[in-house]
Amino acid sequence: MERVTIREASQRLRIPTSMVRECIRGGELKAIREPQADGRMSWVVELPEDGWISEATSEEMNREFCPWWWGNIDKTGYIHYVESLSASSWEETVPRFLCGEEGDNIWAATELAEEQLCLECQMRAIEQGLPQANPS
Ligand SMILES: [Zn+2]
Repeated sequence: MERVTIREASQRLRIPTSMVRECIRGGELKAIREPQADGRMSWVVELPEDGWISEATSEEMNREFCPWWWGNIDKTGYIHYVESLSASSWEETVPRFLCGEEGDNIWAATELAEEQLCLECQMRAIEQGLPQANPS
């Protein structure tokens, strides 16, 4: 079983660090305290099997993982395609969207409305043969 930091778990599982912590609290992910190279104890998360999806996420989305997410908590503006996630110095997740914009964090887009999809992200996803959004 591979053990990684909360920050890395967030990137590997493609969920915000806050959700990794929630999953640990809820018992969905197993975390233990391990001594690090510098002798300090810190939390590490046991990486679940491939295809794992948090209950919170799956409940909220009730569908397969979809790369289309909101970039702000108000869920205003456009739904973007998350190209990659990185962690800021304070361990929050910073998404980079396909169109080049960056968000504060990511919030699952539960309903994809055609007019709310970022056009730039859609065009690039088509160009690169990435999964398309299926507006409901
Ligand atoms: Zn976009």
